[in-house]
Amino acid sequence: MSPMFVPGPVDVAPEVLKEQTKPMLPHRSKDFEATFQGAIEKLRQVFYTQYRVFIMTNSGSGAQEAAVRNLANERVLSCVNGSFSKRWYDVAIANGKQADKIDNPWNQPIMPEQVEAALKQAKYDLITVVHNETSTGVMNPVKAIAEVVHRVSPDTMVAVDAVSSLSGAKIEMDAWGLDVLFTSSQKCLALPPGLALCAVNDRAMERAKNVPNRGWYFDFVLLEKHRVKDSTPMTPAMSLIFALDHQLNRILAEGLDNRFARHSAMAARTKEWADKKGWPLYAPEGYRSQTLTVVTNPPEFDLADFNKFLAARSLRLANGYGDLKGKTFRVAHMGEIQPSDLENLLAAFDEYLPAKGL
Ligand SMILES: *Cc1c(COP(=O)(O)O)cnc(C)c1O
Repeated sequence: MSPMFVPGPVDVAPEVLKEQTKPMLPHRSKDFEATFQGAIEKLRQVFYTQYRVFIMTNSGSGAQEAAVRNLANERVLSCVNGSFSKRWYDVAIANGKQADKIDNPWNQPIMPEQVEAALKQAKYDLITVVHNETSTGVMNPVKAIAEVVHRVSPDTMVAVDAVSSLSGAKIEMDAWGLDVLFTSSQKCLALPPGLALCAVNDRAMERAKNVPNRGWYFDFVLLEKHRVKDSTPMTPAMSLIFALDHQLNRILAEGLDNRFARHSAMAARTKEWADKKGWPLYAPEGYRSQTLTVVTNPPEFDLADFNKFLAARSLRLANGYGDLKGKTFRVAHMGEIQPSDLENLLAAFDEYLPAKGL
């Protein structure tokens, strides 16, 4: 495997890739239903929830759409401090909702005080928060945000996108009072793209029943009707679900706490390296991602050239996102990436940079 330090799609373990070559079964057969149910039981552990987890055949953006369509009659408060949270706002608007933004500079976390002030200004059906902004490496204080929402505006549903952090950072859905929490397959879970995993609590299910125009494909009520029979309304991406089930076994065998510790150790190591280099991290102290580190580089650093150097070593690094391209680079240390892979990357930096006078 040639490690890609890129925030999705990430490397997938060969044995997980191989699960996708299993023969097809009728999707409404006992055998498939058993795999489906088993995967959901394991997902509940990873999400720290006693509630249902929908296995959806669509990418994470579909779960953003599902949250908006099922939980908001009208007004949505979108917390925006990066590209993926901005997308969720766009999704709300595209679905005809009346969405307002808390619009922060991209290096600023969403603070609970800001949420409190916004909730005192207007009544919202739903607040959308991205846990880990993959464009910036900022990790928002979701637990504190959810606390404020429940205190100030108990009827407002809390939906959280944890696409690039779930299973790499501990997010306790039920204990934190999150109503909807989702991820995609191709990031921290280290699976091929094509699935979203979306946990929905009972309160959110009740809300959905009373929201008109939920559509069909993303309707939580319809998904639930089939889930209780260990199935889905439409034909699911079965090969991906075979891979998911196997990968969840691997994740639980590693142990969730060990997995979180591995991710945070790699974040700490990347920071230590950047500090020594004198290259500042983009995200402020206290709000840094555990699964990806965004480093500000001097203008003389040419990532395309460095990636050529890395390619010879079967490594690959991600550029900054959008406006941050050229100014930052992103070290994704998530999923299958091991501390020893990270050491190889940092050693490559230490070989390359002095030769360029950096
Ligand atoms: C990648 C990403 C998305 C989009 O997910 P897709 O699976 O590509 O639709 C949404 N939110 C975050 C935080 C992401 O990193």
